[in-house]
Amino acid sequence: MQRLRPYLAYLKIVRWPIVVALLCGVVYGIANGAGLPFMIQKVFPKIFNESAARLTDWQLFMIALWLPGIFLARGIAGYFNSYLIQYAGTRVLEALRLDYFRKLQVLPLAFLQKHKTGDLISRGMTDTQTLQVALTSFANDIFKQPTSLIGALSFLAWKAYNEHGVILVLVSMAVIPLSILPIRYVGKRLINRAAQVQGHLGQVSERFSENLNAAREVRAFGLEKRETERLGLITRKLLTYQMKVTKYTQALPPLIEIISSIGISITLIYAYHVHISLNSFVAIIMALYSCYDPIKKLGALQNITKIGTAALDRLEVVLNEPVTIQDPKNPVAVTRVRGDLVFEHVGITYDNDTAALRDVTVTIPAGTTCALVGPSGAGKSTFANLVPRFYDVSAGRITLDGVDLRDMTLADLRRNIAIVSQEPVLFNDTIRNNLLLGRHDASHAEVEQSARDAFVHDFIASLPQGYDTIVGERGATLSGGQRQRLAVARAFLRNAPLLILDEATSALDSESEAAIQQALKKLVVGKTVLIIAHRFSTIRDATMILVFQEGRIIAKGDHARLHAENPLYRALYDQQNVASG
Ligand code: ATP
Repeated sequence: MQRLRPYLAYLKIVRWPIVVALLCGVVYGIANGAGLPFMIQKVFPKIFNESAARLTDWQLFMIALWLPGIFLARGIAGYFNSYLIQYAGTRVLEALRLDYFRKLQVLPLAFLQKHKTGDLISRGMTDTQTLQVALTSFANDIFKQPTSLIGALSFLAWKAYNEHGVILVLVSMAVIPLSILPIRYVGKRLINRAAQVQGHLGQVSERFSENLNAAREVRAFGLEKRETERLGLITRKLLTYQMKVTKYTQALPPLIEIISSIGISITLIYAYHVHISLNSFVAIIMALYSCYDPIKKLGALQNITKIGTAALDRLEVVLNEPVTIQDPKNPVAVTRVRGDLVFEHVGITYDNDTAALRDVTVTIPAGTTCALVGPSGAGKSTFANLVPRFYDVSAGRITLDGVDLRDMTLADLRRNIAIVSQEPVLFNDTIRNNLLLGRHDASHAEVEQSARDAFVHDFIASLPQGYDTIVGERGATLSGGQRQRLAVARAFLRNAPLLILDEATSALDSESEAAIQQALKKLVVGKTVLIIAHRFSTIRDATMILVFQEGRIIAKGDHARLHAENPLYRALYDQQNVASG
């Protein structure tokens, strides 16, 4: 319960529905706990007592109204209680999911790479729901059930005391504390099993996500059977843990009922000896039953909160993860930068402890087109990724126009950068909206001009819906070349002073290739450009070339000089030249 406490704040947004729901819960509790036994006390004697005077029709009618009256109050109160609690729960779930999603937006990329997408989705979908159920059940039952219990206990005490003294009270209540034992026993066992279930649900979702993302590979390598078997192994484990949870949660109500029946039997024996009337006895039994029902529900609540705690543990892996890449407290105001980029003794180490960049110092003046070359794994992408602060340096610093990147806000920094990645991602939206991601306030004329600059306008115009064509998930309905050109158009629209290009390694058709090369030539003019270059023509045209090897810049210069002086560069260049030629 302690663990859930900070999250009870989520209930604040649904304060009023919960208050009304609770009031309804109290009415329900009274009708349920004390109302029914009281009704039996009131109705039975008048109808079944032979010696009493005959009732008039009106009196009989009024007496008969007790039963529907109590059930009506109980039904209406119960309905509104459940409806409002459901409403509150859905709102809480919405808030929890949004907070979780909001956190995912700002977490460092390194965190997202370390965790599997499917598992992160499962935490956002299933664990938030489990936590919501725990929170709202808590809010619902924490007053309602004790009220029912107190109602029933009070009736029991009053009745027993008036008729047969304290002993009957003690006898009939003696077994109640015993009911707590199974609740405690089950609760303890449940939390680990619940955590296992949530973990395995995460793995199932992970398998789905990986499999769907690799749909081509699965078919190409004939992995259909293997994939199904892999999923089957996890779902079978999930089943085992789910059944363990079921074993414990389902054992609780019968255990409590068995204990209650013992209580009732003892009361029966006692009642026989002290000659209690049938009416009184039935009323006491009803009240006793009404005591056990809330105990049973409080037991279930204990289980739900344990399961909720397990879900919370998984959510907190994300919610409590520090946002290491964030805005400074006192940011330097930056509008449009010139684009002077300086790396000073920059080092970065990813999780695996091997340095991806070591002591990198280089000045890239504004307006330079800088090609990054080097063998695979040499650190080129890492170098480029440091500029938009996708990762932060572990040592040294990077300045833009003399300002440390960490001294400006992320929004100011990233507004000055356009990125065209190797495999550009488009959202499942219209072409126009995908282009507008570059600059939200661009006019239609500007959108169209950027498409013309990227040689993609004619293609868009040829589509039946033109700029309003929906491109499908990740731009699935377009060819690789079309996606690339749309990404270049987006960069044109952004018109940022810094440009990061990750050249596609996969060959495009020659028409797309030529169009993209020509578009890029225009795009880079007047900008500071970092190109992770894979084509010798791009490298040759660069004003500055940085040669990376094992996380260091081992040479710097233009093509002619590097080709003459640097053996690694010469080898890389000649290799590409041959491959492309
Ligand atoms: P390529 O041309 O093959 O893309 P690269 O020169 O761009 O290679 P980087 O991607 O910068 O090289 O990688 C540099 C080193 O850092 C490699 O050893 C790589 O394994 C490691 N690395 C890169 N990204 C991560 C990451 N997110 N987590 C851990 N290690 C990483």
